[in-house]
Order: sequence, then structure tokens, then C-alpha cells
Amino acid sequence: MKFNLAGIETYRIGPAGALVLTLVMCSCSPAEPEAPGMRSLVESEFGSLDGQSVKLFTLTNDSGAEVAITEYGGIVVSLMVPDRDGNLGDVVLGFEDLDSYIADTPYFGAITGRYANRIAGGRFEIDGTSYELPLNNGPNSLHGGLKGFDKVIWRAKPTESGDGVAFSYVSADGEEGYPGTLESKVTYTWTDRNELRIDYIASTDKPTVVNLTNHSYFNLKDGGASPILGHQLTINADSYTPIDATLIPTGEIAPLAGTPLDFREPTEIGARIEDAAEQLAFGSGYDHNYVLSAAPEGLTLAATVYEPETGRAMEVLTREPGVQFYSGNFLDGHLVGKGGIVYEHRSGLCLETQHFPNSPNQAEFPSTVLRPDDAYSTTTVYRFYTR
Ligand code: BGC
Repeated sequence: MKFNLAGIETYRIGPAGALVLTLVMCSCSPAEPEAPGMRSLVESEFGSLDGQSVKLFTLTNDSGAEVAITEYGGIVVSLMVPDRDGNLGDVVLGFEDLDSYIADTPYFGAITGRYANRIAGGRFEIDGTSYELPLNNGPNSLHGGLKGFDKVIWRAKPTESGDGVAFSYVSADGEEGYPGTLESKVTYTWTDRNELRIDYIASTDKPTVVNLTNHSYFNLKDGGASPILGHQLTINADSYTPIDATLIPTGEIAPLAGTPLDFREPTEIGARIEDAAEQLAFGSGYDHNYVLSAAPEGLTLAATVYEPETGRAMEVLTREPGVQFYSGNFLDGHLVGKGGIVYEHRSGLCLETQHFPNSPNQAEFPSTVLRPDDAYSTTTVYRFYTR
């Protein structure tokens, strides 16, 4: 994918690891893969919103694999990784221009917050005070409300190490009904091992609830031109949170054994998707929160996805207790994305690492309350390789 750029700042890591800043004033196509060994970070204009410029940052690693992320919603716009023959291909769904993201997107690639996933009835209480959120998903509030963190402009800066970009956003007290001024920083790092590491930190000045994730839709075969049904998935979970007809957890933590949701062994997504769909009153396929079998410390391997035709594979590692596996059930062919691809039903899959849905109303679930003295900090890594 090429972006038409004019006036580009290029950050390079010199041989001794020194950060060299070059200002390139040209109209060229810097998203072309660089020669191996030429790590770069290119900053360009992606568009504008309400008179404010919105930038795109393209990070290319030593092998030429690259990720492009925009300040609008902190969206991962493209992610180019090799197949088993070394051919780079884009493995995320999305659009070529900012206006398409503003017009209509099912959270493609975005940072979702302040509370990713659903809060029942758009209501919760902290310390006896009730808060009301806008309802944007039937009777519930989804992904932070009408204008969640996916629809705001984050301000971004390259990290000192030169292999990442830190995106910051300050959410005002009362924004979308949530209490407390929340200062969030999400740092994307693109390593030479084809790992997209996402570090989230946040702090608040009043007790609030926080649940941040990335909502990338992956298709390791062709970026969404065909269904994800042939991808093989493994999820490192023995149990899940059963849901009601509006996808709100009942509160129970149930075993996966014997259900079509069990991905403890590598299984084609298409193998039992119709059985899983039968369990959903809303949506058709997988849209469930898995309770991860946590590692004693550090990052847990949450899930592995393997696409046999291209040999591309992805591991998802996280410090979060859960992962929402969503099989693109609401994609219906009305969105046309990069390269003119029509995103049909189940053409992308999401593995959204997060706390459980509706945790603010479920005392038994791990808490999502953040207090002024607390520091919210979590990490997820999407690691790409081939087999
Ligand atoms: C939810 C789905 C929803 C999708 C896009 C997922 O996180 O679980 O139900 O349709 O996001 O909004």
C-alpha cells in the first residue's frame, strides 16, 4: 500500500543505534519497503478532521515488514508481513483514507475505550454513585459510547528508541458519561522480530472504569478478500463467560470442554462456527470472551492463529485476563476497503485482549476500577511468523 506524501520526516536508527533525524522534503512514496537493514519511521499527513491535521506513522523494520498507524483512533491502518515465500502482504482490514474511517467503520484497527466491550444497560456504580452512559448497542453501551477512543484524535510522538510511536489522549471528566479525567498513553512498538507490541498506561483524577484494547481485524491470508474460516485457531483458555441474548455475561464462568467454543487444540474456525452461531441470539459466529489460563507472571500466550495456504501465523500475548474472539459476524459486504476489497461476512477476525465484558457490574470479575492513586498498565503483543 502506498500513501501519497509531501514533506516527510524520516527517523532512522544509525549503525551504532544512534537516532538520526532527517527531514525529507519531497513528494514520494516512502511506504515502499526499504532495503533490508534500513529501519525507518515515516511521518505523513493522513487527512484532517475539524481543521486539525491527522498524521500517519509508518514503521518499517530491518526486514522491510511494516505497520502504519494513524492518530485518528490510534488505528492500525496496515500491517505488512511476509508469507512463507517472503512475500509481504497486508493482514489487517481497513481503509486507504481518513474520510472512510470517519464515515463508517466497525472499529477497524482502533484503540477501543474508555471501556472496550459492553456495559449492561449503560449503567454502573462506583462507591455508591451511579453513572449513565449512552446506549449504542441495543440496550447496552459498547466500546466507550457514541464517540469512544476509536473516534478521537490521539497525538503521537516517536519513541526515543526510534522503533515505536506513543499515542496520547486526555479524556475529559464526564466524557461519554464516564467520571474522571483520564490520561491515556498507548505506545506501539514494531520490532525486528515482526512483533507489534502495544503498551497501555492510564491515570485518572477520580475513580473511574477503564478497559483498553486494540480492535484490529486480521486475515492472514489476504487482508480480508476471503473468509477467515480456514484459519486455524488455538486459544489458551479452559473457560469462558456465557452471555445473554444481548451478549452480556450472565456472571457464570463455564468450562469450554464439549462446546463449539473450545479452541484448546488448533481448530479451523469454520469447523464449528455454525454450532457456535446457534448459541448467539445476536450475531452469527463467535463473539465470546475467553478466560485466559494466565501465566504466573508476565505475558500469557492467549492465542495462536495459523493460515495454512500462506504459512503466516500470529501469536497473541497479553497481561489481560480475557480475550474476546469475534469472527467478523457483522461484516456484510457494505464496506469497501484497501485495494477495493469488499469486506464480506466473516472476512476478518478479532482477538481483543481485555478485562471481561460488563465487569463494572460483576463484582466477581477482575476489577476494572481505576482510582487516582492507581496506575493502569497493560501490554499486548501480536507476533507474526511463518511455518
Ligand atoms: C464485539 C462485537 C461487535 C464488534 C464490532 C466486538 O468487540 O464483541 O459484538 O460487533 O466488536 O463492534
